[in-house]
Amino acid sequence: MATQTPPTTPTTTSAAPAGGAHAALHARHRAVLPDWLATYYRRPIELTRGEGRHVWDAEGNRYLDFFGGILTTMTAHALPEVTAAVSAQAGRILHSSTLYLSSHAVELAERIARLSGIPDARVFFTTSGTEANDTALLLATAYRRSNQILALRNSYHGRSFSAVGITGNSAWSPTSLSPLQTLYVHGGVRTRGPYAQLSDAEFVTACVADLEDVLGQTGGPVAALIAEPVPGVGGFTMPPDGLLAAFKQVLDKHGILWITDEVQTGWGRTGEHFWGWQAHGQAGPPDILTFAKGIGNGMSMGGVVARAEVMNCLTAHSISTFGGSPVTAAAALANLTYLVEHDLQGNARRIGGLLRGRFEAAAARLGIVREVRGRGLMLGVELVVPGSGQPSAEAAGLALEAAREHGLLIGKGGRFGNVLRIAPPLSLTVEEAEEGADALEAALAAAQQALA
Ligand code: PLP
Repeated sequence: MATQTPPTTPTTTSAAPAGGAHAALHARHRAVLPDWLATYYRRPIELTRGEGRHVWDAEGNRYLDFFGGILTTMTAHALPEVTAAVSAQAGRILHSSTLYLSSHAVELAERIARLSGIPDARVFFTTSGTEANDTALLLATAYRRSNQILALRNSYHGRSFSAVGITGNSAWSPTSLSPLQTLYVHGGVRTRGPYAQLSDAEFVTACVADLEDVLGQTGGPVAALIAEPVPGVGGFTMPPDGLLAAFKQVLDKHGILWITDEVQTGWGRTGEHFWGWQAHGQAGPPDILTFAKGIGNGMSMGGVVARAEVMNCLTAHSISTFGGSPVTAAAALANLTYLVEHDLQGNARRIGGLLRGRFEAAAARLGIVREVRGRGLMLGVELVVPGSGQPSAEAAGLALEAAREHGLLIGKGGRFGNVLRIAPPLSLTVEEAEEGADALEAALAAAQQALA
């Protein structure tokens, strides 16, 4: 658990009046940055400080961060161990590139290789989840000499040309001109349609039949299946345990590689397991594992783990200029050490259970919530129009704004934009969980009232 003294600044729940420095900054932002950035909140927040599980904006308002950045602040904001590691390394040399040896990168790779469970593992560091998945696709297509990729519907894997090419939702995929041939299979979502009625076992059987059907219709080899164990941007939908194991049996028959995208699910966030794929029992280990977000605790760190024969199938040099740079590697190493030594996976399981219970109790009192789901500190609250049960992105927007008024930052997502995503730093305390649950219930009640 993080040991910082909780900040004493009182929570300010109302935003400062429009105008002034904030309005000027927002206007300059709009004039020079893309329209699709800073889209959270009618009046976007400028965060200037963080400590533990709290952040402060430029106007002095304090918020409990229930989105952990974007699942990036894995342990805690301003964790002294990470800050010290970054400062020490920055004072020595900022960057030495992947042309040279780096003791931090080697030690980090050794630890991640061991943790991955992949035999004879090699680790390639990148600067983001997108670059990690892009590299995984590069490896799989080169290894299998095929540009056909299987992906789950409603998936999100990043924003490079290849990553958007395999993203199964046009809202997150700004182009369809991908050089990859993507074959979509079921598995990510069953909240609506015929799949919603199925039991877990029936759902797995139906998805496997779908996979076999898709494979039966393709000519030539397929390189890989890429899947998030819990779809993240897709709204923390929960595939039944065992789905990936059932997929793997089919993949193995065809020699198709399995890429697990652990960008959101890695490092113990789901509480029960260190990696999301481990919920699928005898499925593992995967052929390729990708990670990013939380490992750097906010520093730009991602990577790919694969068996040596897969990693080394590239014959041309393919370095990442900044991937695994000494400063980010030092941050990641300190962060990972803290996470393991303080059993934050166990904390995610315990506090996640408490939060889930609180959310379920709130849901029982409110018609706006269709479902509370998730594992550990990766919890989704799906919102609907009370009475009709129709997915409501408006409800999610209202809840987000109301939560802000109650000093709580949360995320949203889902196929219909109607899912609140709760993913705080894994060091969340019982008191903070209670504080956040109170704030969320108040925000949901306010959203429900606004919809009425
Ligand atoms: N994969 C998953 C599951 C993600 O959720 C994301 C980002 O949200 C990415 C990949 C892309 O990561 P990045 O934004 O670091 O490029």
